[in-house]
Amino acid sequence: MGDQFFKLWEEDIKLLEIEKWAKDNHIPIISKEIANILKTLLIVKNPKLILEVGTAIGYSTLWFANYSSEQSEIVTLERDQNRLSKAKKNIEWFNFQDKVNFKYGDAFEIIPYLRREFDFIFIDAAKGQYLNLFKMAEKKLSKDGVIICDNVLYKGLVRNKKDVKHKMRTIVSNMQNFLIYLKDNKYFKTDLFNIGDGLTISSRRNL
Ligand code: SAH
Ligand code: MG
Repeated sequence: MGDQFFKLWEEDIKLLEIEKWAKDNHIPIISKEIANILKTLLIVKNPKLILEVGTAIGYSTLWFANYSSEQSEIVTLERDQNRLSKAKKNIEWFNFQDKVNFKYGDAFEIIPYLRREFDFIFIDAAKGQYLNLFKMAEKKLSKDGVIICDNVLYKGLVRNKKDVKHKMRTIVSNMQNFLIYLKDNKYFKTDLFNIGDGLTISSRRNL
């Protein structure tokens, strides 16, 4: 895979069409910056088994599929049926259906029953639930696996609490508690990147 290939991917007319569809339909998708970090991590870590929590229309899933090896598998969870069926179409459009395993339902009801260990877990779901999702994901992570979380700065509000509207206050304080959990964590080390809407990358301290 040379540079030319990467460029072709980002400028793929079908990918651009999905980005536009997401925008027009107010579906949040990972930013290009985040997509490029994920791409780099995928190339470096070469995960065999990937878990994605929050498929939406499969945009981030496409990046996972494109930058993981042929033998890799992606398990992706989504509780919105319409979004999930759009995601399936998008994945088929790119002919990645053989490496993507879609699961419909609530992550809290699915994750505890997953029997395999994942090398790469991407959490991009309900923003008020990250602490619980992370604790659940920890149990399913392989020894040298990573957990990546998107939108952890929640539109900048996690840092500027005074601007937070009442209905979002719970989400913001939950997210703060999540970041405190990561900061003081004995078992995981975490980097927080102020890009996109905030991204964390966590891995085990004692390998
Ligand atoms: N990862 C996608 C965007 C996901 S948006 C991308 O970057 O392309 C977040 C999605 O998570 C929404 O579609 C929402 O329906 C889903 N979601 C939120 N909480 C969930 C839960 N508890 N279980 C399953 N899906 C959830
Ligand atoms: Mg996101």
